[in-house]
Order: sequence, then C-alpha cells, then structure tokens
Amino acid sequence: MNVTCPECGGEFDILEDTMTGEIISCPECGAELEVMSTEPPTLELAPEVEEDWGE
Ligand SMILES: [Zn+2]
Repeated sequence: MNVTCPECGGEFDILEDTMTGEIISCPECGAELEVMSTEPPTLELAPEVEEDWGE
C-alpha cells in the first residue's frame, strides 16, 4: 500500500497486512506514524510517548 507521510510528504509503501493503530516509522524522515485507516491507507503523526512510567 502506498502512503504519504504527513510530516515530510514523502511517499512509501507499507505492508498489505498493516493494521489500523499500528505505529510505523517514515523511512524518509523517521517520524513515528500511526495508521489511522487502511481503506484508504492514512497516516497521522503518532503522539510522542515518553517511555517513562515512573516508579
Ligand atoms: Zn516522513
């Protein structure tokens, strides 16, 4: 599936079996992108999640 990065506008392919909600990285700019829809394939910038759960 061909998608467009909302960050840099670059186009690239994602796997056919990519599912909604998956997080992928743009090969052009490295942005983290969430798959919002697969029909048609739509990406949005994923919210930045700090891997800090506190302790
Ligand atoms: Zn990009």
